[in-house]
Amino acid sequence: MKKNVYDIAILGSGLSSLTAILKILETNPKLKICVISSNKNSSKECLSESSINYLKKNHTKIAKNISKKQVDNLLLKSSKRYKTSFIQTFNFGGFGSFWGGGLFPIHRKSKNFKEIYEFILKNFNVININKKNNKKKLTIRNNLFEIIEYDPKFIFNNFHKAGTKYIIDPGKEIRSLSEKFKFRVYGNTFLENFIFNKDNYIFTLSSSKNKKIYAKNIIIGLGVLNSPLFLKNSKFIDNENIEISEHKLYRIPFINLKALFNNYFFKQTDNNFFEKYRKFISLKESFLLKVIRRYLFIGIYFFPNQFFMRIPILNKLCNKKIIGFSQIYLGNEYRTSTLIISLSKNKFKQKIISKPRLNLFEIFNIIIFLFSKSLIPLPFKYSLKFGSSYHFYGSLKNKNIDFDKINITNNIEVIDSSTISSIGAEPSSFLLIKNSYLRTKKILKNFE
Ligand SMILES: Cc1cc2nc3c(=O)[nH]c(=O)nc-3n(C[C@H](O)[C@H](O)[C@H](O)COP(=O)(O)OP(=O)(O)OC[C@H]3O[C@@H](n4cnc5c(N)ncnc54)[C@H](O)[C@@H]3O)c2cc1C
Repeated sequence: MKKNVYDIAILGSGLSSLTAILKILETNPKLKICVISSNKNSSKECLSESSINYLKKNHTKIAKNISKKQVDNLLLKSSKRYKTSFIQTFNFGGFGSFWGGGLFPIHRKSKNFKEIYEFILKNFNVININKKNNKKKLTIRNNLFEIIEYDPKFIFNNFHKAGTKYIIDPGKEIRSLSEKFKFRVYGNTFLENFIFNKDNYIFTLSSSKNKKIYAKNIIIGLGVLNSPLFLKNSKFIDNENIEISEHKLYRIPFINLKALFNNYFFKQTDNNFFEKYRKFISLKESFLLKVIRRYLFIGIYFFPNQFFMRIPILNKLCNKKIIGFSQIYLGNEYRTSTLIISLSKNKFKQKIISKPRLNLFEIFNIIIFLFSKSLIPLPFKYSLKFGSSYHFYGSLKNKNIDFDKINITNNIEVIDSSTISSIGAEPSSFLLIKNSYLRTKKILKNFE
């Protein structure tokens, strides 16, 4: 029987895979491509009551919107045991089915910035929610610190029924693209490993259902843990442990004095552009703060309407934006937040090996900054566990493994954040798209 061989197989259905598909369709739409992704965990084991509670407590947004079989159950158990919040999901769309959509294209002088940003603006639906406010942006610069305000930008869906708008879900977008451009999607296929035949340069991909799929090139976007695991199961790497980094995250709830006065004394409501999208976005303002040499990202967030339905007073205060919270991500100028994890699937042993912290001067600057915006911090456990930011990276690009050095052929690329070696202080989607774009471009060179 003649084999059906794809020019490129894209593995995974998250934001990095969506980027790769868009780049391929833009450059060479005639290529025969397919997308292969899980939608359910291969393990039949269901989450226990205590794991469900753990999921609800540590990952509220994911718990609300995911089928329990789509969570990596073994990893969740391990994270519970080692007291981290590290999580991976097996749904079609990946993390991007739950994300906040925030895009921060802020390092305009960086290499390839113009090319990547033009690609994003052409292929994604980017919305700048503050644009209509016409408010002057805050900029303060002196020797010890600087603050620069950035408009939060969000990626919305391109395809929608009757004008429905929502934060982009890569899974829905990939399915719509496959209908439009007629490529095959293996939408519930859990990949186990691959074999590369050096004689004919063809990859044989094996799934848990013993299905075999053949491709001349593979683009791997299975996420920061599952891409290394897949490479290990395929005997491409032999590391027992990998290092995964993420943004250190602090969350500070606050009382918004301005909203309190406006609501209760002047009876004014803040009826701006943000309100229009508040159903699905919570980030209202964003700032990059540089204290001496380290950058910090400070986001001002408000809960979606009716978020605390069961606690009416809290619900009312949050609806009126009297209570909100600030998220602070630490840049990596001093230390990265890093975890070492064993790739043995029944164990997933974890150990935090590096834990950055805010120093006193940074804390002082953050408090002054919040006060200057009439935001009064409330007592809370501010420092969050490893995994809480979801901005993971670097598992195939650290001192123990360098994917680009061990790569045996230029027909394989890992496009997710495993192959990103460092990130700034801001949410990482711009870098994630950039990494996937540049690595997909390398694969496309094979067809020139
Ligand atoms: C609640 C939340 C809010 C967030 N907010 C933001 C934000 O505002 N801004 C920002 O920049 N980032 C944000 N992020 C992070 C962002 O969503 C992720 O960085 C990004 O979506 C990761 O995409 P990915 O394609 O690299 O990987 P993933 O999304 O992890 O995709 C991996 C894919 O591989 C599939 N898969 C895994 N293993 C297998 C296997 N063996 N076989 C087949 N398929 C497999 C999975 O099903 C999935 O489709 C947020 C994340 C979350 C969870």
